[in-house]
Amino acid sequence: MMDDCIFCQIVAGDIPSRTVYEDDAVLAFLDANPLAPGHTLVIPKAHHETMADLPEDAASDVFAALHRLTPAVEAAVDAPASTVAFNNGEEAGQEVPHVHGHIVPRFSDDGGRPIHALFGDRPDLADDELADIATAIEDAA
Ligand code: AMP
Ligand code: ZN
Repeated sequence: MMDDCIFCQIVAGDIPSRTVYEDDAVLAFLDANPLAPGHTLVIPKAHHETMADLPEDAASDVFAALHRLTPAVEAAVDAPASTVAFNNGEEAGQEVPHVHGHIVPRFSDDGGRPIHALFGDRPDLADDELADIATAIEDAA
């Protein structure tokens, strides 16, 4: 546990939350500032800041919980869809430095947009740049 981490304090029970799911490795609770009714956060109980810091078994546990909870959240608020996403790292807008997946219920009239709408101009990448990037990712994985 990281003493100054708000989500570690929720896991420890020092800060209240509206818990919707818990197992040995994962906690899920309602977001305190919801983007939609049912907006849920899914976190590993252990403190890891970003995806790169998260061990594979904890990542599997988090995804298993997301898989279980996404249809449950949608059903609870009668949503036909949801945006499931991680702000991964400060530059990507992550404000709480403890990995968390968002499940945000979506409705046809909610005025929200797809994740693609977060970005402005798209990079114009040549074939050889794409090939180099693909190789670099493959080598790093
Ligand atoms: P992010 O910007 O991805 O780091 O998202 C952090 C999320 O945590 C935001 O949606 C906040 O509303 C939410 N949040 C912050 N503090 C709490 C809290 N004490 N209980 C529940 N949700 C929280
Ligand atoms: Zn933490």
